[in-house]
Amino acid sequence: RFTSVEQAPPDPILGVSEAFKADKSDLKLNLGVGAYRTEELKPYVLDVVKKAEKALLDKGENKEYLPIEGLASFRSATAELLLGPTHPAIKEKRIATLQSLSGTGSLRLGASFIARFLPGTAVYLSNPTWGNHKNILSDSGVEWKNYRYFDPETVGLDFDGMMEDIKSAPDNSIIMLHGCAHNPTGIDPTEEQWAKIADLCIEKNHLPFFDVAYQGFASGSLDEDAYAPRYFLERGLEIIAAQSYSKNLGLYGERVGALNFVLSDSNSAQRVMSQAKRLARALYSNPPVHGARIAAEVVGQPDLFDEWREEMQGMAGRIKTVRQKLYDELVKLNGDKDWSFITNQIGMFSFTGLSPAQVENMTKKHHVYMTKDGRISMAGLNNAKTEYLAKAIDDSFRN
Ligand code: PMP
Repeated sequence: RFTSVEQAPPDPILGVSEAFKADKSDLKLNLGVGAYRTEELKPYVLDVVKKAEKALLDKGENKEYLPIEGLASFRSATAELLLGPTHPAIKEKRIATLQSLSGTGSLRLGASFIARFLPGTAVYLSNPTWGNHKNILSDSGVEWKNYRYFDPETVGLDFDGMMEDIKSAPDNSIIMLHGCAHNPTGIDPTEEQWAKIADLCIEKNHLPFFDVAYQGFASGSLDEDAYAPRYFLERGLEIIAAQSYSKNLGLYGERVGALNFVLSDSNSAQRVMSQAKRLARALYSNPPVHGARIAAEVVGQPDLFDEWREEMQGMAGRIKTVRQKLYDELVKLNGDKDWSFITNQIGMFSFTGLSPAQVENMTKKHHVYMTKDGRISMAGLNNAKTEYLAKAIDDSFRN
């Protein structure tokens, strides 16, 4: 029965960590998976998370099931973080928020909703995008297509290509947009460009689906990083938005996130909520309780909330520092090449433009582990290793 099941290829991102583990060299550096590391290259549990966990233990919370839609205090906190606490959609109850299994599970729940209630609607993904978007949609039975995004010539945004492709998509399509810190390129539209994308969505009646995986983690400011979804709402569009607390609160393995439908009337929000709950019930029944309590505690206690923002700024700041240092080292090694794309990109990743063969050189010769598309996670780099990494990149570009 199972003999005909073929071996699956390793995951393009998580497979990099497996290869890294097997490398015995002292020089090895894992820049594959997007997980924050300290200057000592160790995983980091935020102090506010430890404090919130202690408070929860002291309260002696039980382990009963949550409702299908998740923890009420988390749901209101996450909606307020996304939209801002005084947003009219919250007051007018035009938002349906379900706690789900981090960013991935929230996207998957959204995809299941599209498959059932918007059948035949294709989702347009940036090319490139986070690889799992395609898996999530395909496995949910949702057709996806690409819109142009990255211009290899400029190592920047192919804005004209993006606009053309969104314009030529059939009316009422769904456009997946990265809320901030586009993965893998680190290139976001400017405010003027967001305005033009919103114009097109209005003109074509497209539904924007925001993937918000880095709010507060990219710039250090929760508000700045939520600019795009808030702006689209201001323009009168309805949106879907998936949120993740993996990076900004460092809750990776706790699987904390949410799916939001921000709609034009409370009636629709109520009906959509009832159907999304049905889908979640069959997918995983109800979401995990521990991480949601941590997030709700952090957001709900003003002193913890302030401390969280400081820690987020610390993480964002450390990444900006190594980004600048890597740029400086590369300029020292080859002043003729324009390396400015490194400091222009934001967030956790840098899209280097290294070809698959050059990436192989990075790994085989220099023990630097990264995804084949040329993406490196700046969060896995420290000051001490920037010079080594710059030399490896420079050498690989010359190969
Ligand atoms: N979307 C994007 C763009 C991401 O980069 C990630 C994490 N790498 C996610 C969603 C989801 O992550 P998680 O499921 O851990 O929240």
